[in-house]
Amino acid sequence: MTEQKQAVQPQACPKCGAPPDVRKAGANRVWVQCAKFGANGNCNVICSPQPTRKEAVAVWNRLK
Ligand SMILES: [Zn+2]
Repeated sequence: MTEQKQAVQPQACPKCGAPPDVRKAGANRVWVQCAKFGANGNCNVICSPQPTRKEAVAVWNRLK
């Protein structure tokens, strides 16, 4: 894959393949969780909050 200047897109959930859900709280807490996380399903994949969307997506994309 080539590196692009566009925003990095989060991958599908590494555990169940559901679409990722980018969440935000306040000005500098962004994280990605599985669309089936918690009450929305039965998946528990979530990444720790990061100061920016870019970093949150990077952390999410490293989850296995
Ligand atoms: Zn999932």
